Amino acid sequence: MSDQRKKISILVPAYNEQESLPALYAHLTALADRLPAYRFEFMFVDDGSSDATISIIRNLGAHDDRIAWVELSRNFGKEIAMIAGLDHVTGDATVLLDADLQDPPELIPAMIEKWQEGYDDVYARRRFRDGETWLKKFTSKTYYRLLQRSTRIRLQRDTGDFRLLDRRCVEALRRFRESERYTKGLFSWIGFRKYELLFDRAPRQAGVTKWNYRQLTNLALDGLTSFTTAPLRWSSFIGAIVSAAAFVYILVIVLRTLIWGSDLAGYPSLMAVVLFLGGVQLLSLGIIGEYVGRTFLESKGRPLYLTQDVRVASSEPPASGADSARS
Ligand code: UDP
Ligand code: MG
Repeated sequence: MSDQRKKISILVPAYNEQESLPALYAHLTALADRLPAYRFEFMFVDDGSSDATISIIRNLGAHDDRIAWVELSRNFGKEIAMIAGLDHVTGDATVLLDADLQDPPELIPAMIEKWQEGYDDVYARRRFRDGETWLKKFTSKTYYRLLQRSTRIRLQRDTGDFRLLDRRCVEALRRFRESERYTKGLFSWIGFRKYELLFDRAPRQAGVTKWNYRQLTNLALDGLTSFTTAPLRWSSFIGAIVSAAAFVYILVIVLRTLIWGSDLAGYPSLMAVVLFLGGVQLLSLGIIGEYVGRTFLESKGRPLYLTQDVRVASSEPPASGADSARS
């Protein structure tokens, strides 16, 4: 029996999501029932969870051959979990979905519709940010503004990873093998025809968020440094301004000494200048260090992730490497 229907892969990175999975699965099956014109693949990436996540997925998979999974050998983080999933999906289109139902699966039919109209990247933009502190909202807003100023690529604000990608986008993303990933930037980088849907992001359904401020800061820095070398330019710029100011100050001192003579009372201003210059130098060194560090990490050429167990959907029209494998 050859099935001509288009196949949609739903890609769910899951890290300690045992509480969320049953509800998520119920939503996904309901979705598939509502769209009989498509075939579905539910691809779960178990990102080294320490709870029952993978056994729940396996149990679901025992009764439902739409379920596929990639079990990573440890926790690699969501960015890597996503590329691991993208490497293994087989659909004509792939929807990236969080396990915690913060991205409403109800939006997926609308995404598919837009995809059928010819868009390659249908992304969901959140209208409101419920259940987030004003500090989080404020920092994210300022951050996006800063990032946008430093690059020519058009960034998508208030968008997460919730989106539908045509196969060609998935294939494009597979070619990005950088280990310090900032996938949000990559979505913009690859281009293709994009369409924006608005939605309301709900607070988490169950479990707790795995992001804290330290990780968010790291993600933000990764975003800046993987996307643009503008901070290097800013540091040269600040250096130039400070040097110019220092030069003017030297002229002032020399002239003052020539005209009024020396009174040797320069200690506070000396300290101020020394401390300020020291700070600027450390900052510039830090910025350079960020880039050198990234170069170091990428130059090792390590694999992005290792898998413990992979099951890719069976009943596949002859595609390469689509049989299930156990290592
Ligand atoms: N996630 C992951 N690996 C991690 C952290 C998170 O695969 O190291 C997954 C998590 O299971 C969820 C998604 O990424 O499906 C989003 O995580 P979370 O809800 O904690 O982030 P937030 O919604 O607060 O941005
Ligand atoms: Mg979440």
